[in-house]
Amino acid sequence: MASSTERVDHTNASDSNMSLKVALSAASPLSLRIIAECPVTKARACDLILPHSAVSTPVFMPVGTQGTLKGITVDQLENLGCQICLGNTYHLGMRPGPDLIEKARGLHGFMNWKKNLLTDSGGFQMVSLVELSEVTEEGVKFKSPYDGKEILLSPEKSISIQNSLGSDIMMQLDDVVSSTVTGPRVEEAMHRSIRWLDRCIAANKNPDRQNLFAIIQGGLNAELRKKCLDEMTQRDVPGFAIGGLSGGEEKDDFWRMVTLSTDHLPREKPRYLMGVGYAVDLVVCIALGCDMFDCVFPTRTARFGSALVPWGSLQVKHKQFAKDLQPIDPDCQCPTCKRHSRAYLHALFKSDTAAMHHITIHNIAYQLTLMRSVRQSIVEKRFPEFIQTFMKRMFPSPDQYPSWAVDALASVNITLE
Ligand SMILES: [Zn+2]
Repeated sequence: MASSTERVDHTNASDSNMSLKVALSAASPLSLRIIAECPVTKARACDLILPHSAVSTPVFMPVGTQGTLKGITVDQLENLGCQICLGNTYHLGMRPGPDLIEKARGLHGFMNWKKNLLTDSGGFQMVSLVELSEVTEEGVKFKSPYDGKEILLSPEKSISIQNSLGSDIMMQLDDVVSSTVTGPRVEEAMHRSIRWLDRCIAANKNPDRQNLFAIIQGGLNAELRKKCLDEMTQRDVPGFAIGGLSGGEEKDDFWRMVTLSTDHLPREKPRYLMGVGYAVDLVVCIALGCDMFDCVFPTRTARFGSALVPWGSLQVKHKQFAKDLQPIDPDCQCPTCKRHSRAYLHALFKSDTAAMHHITIHNIAYQLTLMRSVRQSIVEKRFPEFIQTFMKRMFPSPDQYPSWAVDALASVNITLE
């Protein structure tokens, strides 16, 4: 099975020069080669060429907070085949601070990570973690949780920190409103995010080696989303993120905003759906046309002893696994499943944080393997069949399929059996 992907990738490498020219019209250090498009849904498989390496999409990007993923080393992450991961600007900007990281040859040098990095703007963390934050046209004002000093995170400041970090993809500072908020505040935030995008573009000192992504806002209001899409797609940015979702809104609203966004985003640029990481959500949103995803869920849930498996999750702590000598998932090829049993992890969990480490590795491997399988099915033109099999395995019976997923897939011509 692997050979057919290689064959396709290899064939396409020969016309890479032409594709590169087309994609580089924006003169950005990024190019997107579309390898295959699903003839039924909006799914696509692409090669996203970034400054540090190529990324095969659809891609799940694990989240590191302070220059490493909790419970896993950079070498382990690379060995799992991870091609891009996230660094949190807020945490890194506060501690150890951009000056030290710049001295260490950026976040790549600081972490000793050879693949790609995406950094967020820092805004989301600020609004969600810091109680006393205030948003004005200037930026986000907040009190440092480290020393109580008042700090202003402006679009310029956010980009300046991200320039010091040297990430391959930087995110614009946007005006973040909870997805459950309605009314004039959503419209204000949408317009402000457009103005801040222009300030971020102007502030980027490294447009030749760092890609700035715009973030589509507009809450759950289709008119506002469309307006934001119209405005932002007129800007010459290398990629687009769909923001302001996955924050507790109804799933029905969620998928409709996702599909509306992908309908209006340019085909030749990458589409990043922020904060999405549940397996079902990933598969459905790939069908709706998204290429990139990130979420703390797989690593966070691992620390509570929850291992992700094709039939949902497995709670290592549960008594039923105390004498179970099978690996977490007998079909998983990750280092944890090759070496350790459920019973061993169960015993370890009681006394040692090493259990969390083993489950974190498995969960990241699960996400990356899922995305590789999806990609291969798109390349081999059998993505609709893949979804059928995936859903059957994930849910005990079709009447347990979430109705939003059934509706979302029906909107792209897939009727679940
Ligand atoms: Zn595993």
